[in-house]
Amino acid sequence: MGIIVQKYGGTSVGSIDRIRNVARRVIKAKKEGHDVVVILSAMAGETDRLINLAKSAVEDPDPRELDVLMSTGEQTSVALFSMVVQSMGYEARSLLGYQAKIITDRAYGRARIHEIDSSRIKEELARNRIVAVAGFQGLDEKNNITTLGRGGSDTTAVALAAALQADVCEIYTDVDGVYTTDPNICPDARKMSRISYKEMLEMASLGAKVLEIRSVELAAKYGVVIHVRSSFNENPGTLVLEEDEQMEDILVTSVTYSKKDARVTLTRVPDKPGVASKIFTSIAAAGIVVDAIIQNQSADGFTDLSFTVPKTDYKQTINLLQPIGSELGAKEILGDEDIGKVSVIGVGMRNHAGVAAKMFKTLSDENINIMMITTSEIKISCVIEGKYTELAVRVLHDAFGLAESTH
Ligand code: ASP
Ligand code: MG
Repeated sequence: MGIIVQKYGGTSVGSIDRIRNVARRVIKAKKEGHDVVVILSAMAGETDRLINLAKSAVEDPDPRELDVLMSTGEQTSVALFSMVVQSMGYEARSLLGYQAKIITDRAYGRARIHEIDSSRIKEELARNRIVAVAGFQGLDEKNNITTLGRGGSDTTAVALAAALQADVCEIYTDVDGVYTTDPNICPDARKMSRISYKEMLEMASLGAKVLEIRSVELAAKYGVVIHVRSSFNENPGTLVLEEDEQMEDILVTSVTYSKKDARVTLTRVPDKPGVASKIFTSIAAAGIVVDAIIQNQSADGFTDLSFTVPKTDYKQTINLLQPIGSELGAKEILGDEDIGKVSVIGVGMRNHAGVAAKMFKTLSDENINIMMITTSEIKISCVIEGKYTELAVRVLHDAFGLAESTH
């Protein structure tokens, strides 16, 4: 039998009892004859605790030293886990990022993996050991410790699964799998048995929190099949994999939402070349990511321009726009922080008409006004008034029959 990679998140290793539970599951896979490589996150809350500790020490922690500090969370988990496995009569070895030779660039706090030399892991497996690798960390070519960004253990797991050519990369978490929408808002949300990489990427970037987005990109690139499942029960979860024809029969597979954006409008800006460029160049230069953009039909040479930015960048965006707005002769700069974005996603909409019409009709039947619309090949997003977000999710989930479909 081949290699299985299993990744357990912070809640799954949140206490010694839970680490014991993880150890039992890993041993079960080992007993079934697999070689098992386990990637662990820091115990729940630990990474936040370490960051707060640093911030209580100094106002602006040095990025290199912050990575040294944060990486200790995962170090603790793999050491405790390996001890517990050994106490249950099996051989286990912990490996930190540098021992597992996970080589990254030097972007502290958001490093990217360049390459992995899996020979040490393979050696340990050949000795019949369970190998526990610390997630979220690596080292650059000058041997500095780096971390991969919040949620980065998912990326460690997928990268190792690719490097080891594992049969599957199981991501164990505190939910049963990937749902058609957030079950906290919509009680009849359903666990999907399969979903394509493309849909999962859209879901992750549109607000679903199950998998870290870079891990999905990596899985798609190397064809790693991800199995998202719960560490608290034996239920099969959701497979994330390459799409097939069957998936295209379903128009919409999920509904996502986000309340993390704010809307900015410049009214009566001149409708002439260079205006949008001027506005968005200065926003991009500040590192602010713009999402939906709408420009109105021009009336007597003027137009209104609206776009959304993350709420966390809203104040800065308004400040940046003040001088540009007056330079361009804009009438006003308006802002709205109370917006929500709802999206429907599905690879099937590529080949079927009518999804947008159905979405708009569903919202209009509830008297929900659509402020902005954006689309991609496999998703349609509407910006609406914030207070209607949950309602919109429920009616869309219902309208597209997601509670019943068999996807
Ligand atoms: N411990 C890190 C975090 O909390 C990485 C992870 O859990 O995936 O973001
Ligand atoms: Mg996570």
